[in-house]
Amino acid sequence: EVKRGEAEVMKVSTAQMSPAKNPHDLYNVDYLFREKHRVWCRFANGQWHLGKIQSTSGDIVCVMLSSTDEVISMDEIFPANPDILEGVEDLIQLSYLNEPSVLYNFRVRYSQDLIYSKAGPVLIAVNPFKNVQIYGKEFLSTYQNKALDAPHVYAVADAAYDEMMREEKNQSIIISGESGAGKTETAKYAMQYLEALGGGSFGVENEFLKTNCILEAFGNAKTLRNDNSSRFGKLMEIHFSAKGKICGAKLETFTLCQSRVVQLCNGERSYHVFYELCAGAPQILKERLKLKAASEYNYLNQSNCLTIDRINDAQKFHKLMKAFNIVQIPQEYQERAFALLAAVLWLGNVSFKVVDNENYVEVVADEAVTNVAMLMGCNAKDLMVVLSTCKLQAGRDCIAKRLTLRQATDMRDSLAKTIYASLFNWLVEQINISLEVGNSRTGRSISILDIYGFESYKNNSFEQFCINYANERLQQHFNRHLFKLEQEEYEGDGIDWTRVEFKDNQECLNLIEKKPIGLVSLLDEESKFPTATDTTFANKLNQHLRTNSCFKGERGQGFRVSHYAGEVVYDTNGFLEKNRDPLHVDLIQLLSSSKCQLLNQFSTKMQHKSLKSATSLDSMNQSVITKFKGQLFKLMKKLEDTTPHFIRCIKPNSKQLPGLYDENHVLQQLRSCGVLEIVRISRSGYPTRLTHQELAVRYGFILLATKFSQDPLSTSNAILKQYNLPPEMYQVGYRKIYLRTGLIGVLEERKKYVL
Ligand code: ADP
Ligand code: MG
Repeated sequence: EVKRGEAEVMKVSTAQMSPAKNPHDLYNVDYLFREKHRVWCRFANGQWHLGKIQSTSGDIVCVMLSSTDEVISMDEIFPANPDILEGVEDLIQLSYLNEPSVLYNFRVRYSQDLIYSKAGPVLIAVNPFKNVQIYGKEFLSTYQNKALDAPHVYAVADAAYDEMMREEKNQSIIISGESGAGKTETAKYAMQYLEALGGGSFGVENEFLKTNCILEAFGNAKTLRNDNSSRFGKLMEIHFSAKGKICGAKLETFTLCQSRVVQLCNGERSYHVFYELCAGAPQILKERLKLKAASEYNYLNQSNCLTIDRINDAQKFHKLMKAFNIVQIPQEYQERAFALLAAVLWLGNVSFKVVDNENYVEVVADEAVTNVAMLMGCNAKDLMVVLSTCKLQAGRDCIAKRLTLRQATDMRDSLAKTIYASLFNWLVEQINISLEVGNSRTGRSISILDIYGFESYKNNSFEQFCINYANERLQQHFNRHLFKLEQEEYEGDGIDWTRVEFKDNQECLNLIEKKPIGLVSLLDEESKFPTATDTTFANKLNQHLRTNSCFKGERGQGFRVSHYAGEVVYDTNGFLEKNRDPLHVDLIQLLSSSKCQLLNQFSTKMQHKSLKSATSLDSMNQSVITKFKGQLFKLMKKLEDTTPHFIRCIKPNSKQLPGLYDENHVLQQLRSCGVLEIVRISRSGYPTRLTHQELAVRYGFILLATKFSQDPLSTSNAILKQYNLPPEMYQVGYRKIYLRTGLIGVLEERKKYVL
């Protein structure tokens, strides 16, 4: 029943009140639902409104709401935090850790441009989508001098640095969040801080920031979610000398399928570097590379999107050239790299004509194919043969089979992707040479991880599967670590501590990794059968994985996985094809015949790889997912040997606009980034920690003066006794007292009555 007027009064049954579901809040139930207590009420439309309890009788509670919204029904109530806890720096300071309170806390801070907060040991960064005046020289030195301890990425970098120097232990800064949430920017600020802190005479520190510019040109693209979306993951390992100065760095990248080079969604772009080259190459270079405007190339003009608002591609190209020089890539190699980019662009314009009625094709001998051959340093005839035929081994003979239009197009695209992927890997090698780390592995390094975040779209394919698998692994690392930290603190302070159970994601990892019947093995097995199709693969999954609680088969070709961050429906369409390595013998031969040194190098590498896999017993060495898994294991192993510092980036809206805080969007990320997990972990533990002195100052005034003369520990015990708190709600340690969720609210409340 709703009475309208100045304020609205609602009646709700206490049975509907969520706090009762939480055993630790249960204690507070009387107090909570007492008159005047503030609560968050969720309306049917999902929005939260603040209200005050008017009265309770039996299981009916009346809530007064200050808003004038139309109220239809209310399904949930959560206790709101006292005013003194508005916009707290660390969520663990909140008395009540529930979704509306956490959402509100971020909103309050965000509206004041306080984009950083903490959730216990984790830094939360809400993307401002505008320049916020909290970076640069002044702030760098403020944090260096420890003059400020407000949550900040600088503070995280500083803590990592201090711990590294103090403990001589490798550190890592692990940044996660969905696409466009600000991971890459945050990683750059972390590097900037470490550069300022550890900069010295070596010179490398000027370089690793510049490498970002190269990597972004070749590895980032405009997507629907982010104008500058990184399509690869990276781990930057920065090494320090005994004096704490940077002495080298090492870059490791995790690439996804390069299909973006040849295929684009409407409104998205290919990698920035193509547009930058077309727009910014000097006239001489343009002539040498036979370059035209971006709009002339099929690979670029297919998506109706050639430019990005407020971005000048030509200017970016000049920055890229400068960065190349800083990283000391010789002029001639720079030009070779640009020639290969031009070759890729021209490849997209290579066309085929169908000969006979048989649907076999020949390459059209036009400007496009001539230019590709010239730019690749290959014979044009050879190129045309490779693009339109396929060599088959028939006994001792080798016969050439002509390709269909579809096959020829795939071959062409595969060549483009191979060249681009090789070029990317080569650049990473060059960067590493210039950043070189000596042999001095001292246990003094900080690794910064910026990897693609959890993705769930309408249509999810192989890429999303790889990305989400990686995130599943990272999440496990995250869980384990947080629990360990928590446990160590309790044990260190000598309090009783029974292990907290947490929802771990082992079951989902089993689903993916278990041998011989996990998703990965089944995928590899099916990829080996030439007759297998995406549908047979889907059936196979259904048949073998049904018993895993994280798996659900879908009609047709789909399957559903319950990830830690939510359920994702995958479409097996293209899984098998994408899992097979596109490496083609004819293509490798073509590359090795090239006069271009770079292409020769690439082909030698590929030959080496294909030889290795041919002789290896495990012939699926080559599968994309198995390679990915291997990379992931290596990464996790590396991270296990470090002390992690976690940063979770949050995207406040999907429009990339400043000042817009979309509560539902944030909530979905809080859930998927596991922020609520951390909150939950804290709930099961003792989120509020006060030193004995702090407790005495805040709540000790009711004690008789004489009692203050006691030692702090006894004082604390005396205070807690006075407030008549149930013993299971707190623990008294050597240094601090630990309070269960909500207890600080009780103390605040009782203080009023005592006064
Ligand atoms: P992600 O790597 O998570 O996909 P990015 O780091 O590329 O996201 O950030 C996307 C965009 O958001 C950036 O291009 C920038 O415009 C904006 N942005 C992110 N972090 C900040 C920040 N700390 N200050 C200002 N703008 C930011
Ligand atoms: Mg990024």
